Amino acid sequence: MSNFVWCHGPSCHKSHTQDRIRGVKGSKVLRTKKVPVTEYHRNTMYSYFCSQGCYNDFANKYVREVIAIAPRTEALETPIEVVKEQARSWSGRDYMETKIIAVDNNGG
Ligand SMILES: [Zn+2]
Repeated sequence: MSNFVWCHGPSCHKSHTQDRIRGVKGSKVLRTKKVPVTEYHRNTMYSYFCSQGCYNDFANKYVREVIAIAPRTEALETPIEVVKEQARSWSGRDYMETKIIAVDNNGG
């Protein structure tokens, strides 16, 4: 069982960094970076990408395919209550504070 995956950044192998250089003199290459599989990164984008930049490159290249997984055709709404309360600032000034409170209309 391998303990790494290859970075999914479409241009990872084109970044000019020394840790990507592989091969011997005369036939050197820049290679896609390995991403270690760790419990810390499990179920995050860092399980598949070596950097935020590689993640952004992937997201920008494949945004249409990613959106097709769960397209949003209408707005979502969260039921709320808006409550106005008298409050006092740190400097002692009174003001009206607006609080937004989520309301659970689904009974659970
Ligand atoms: Zn990468």
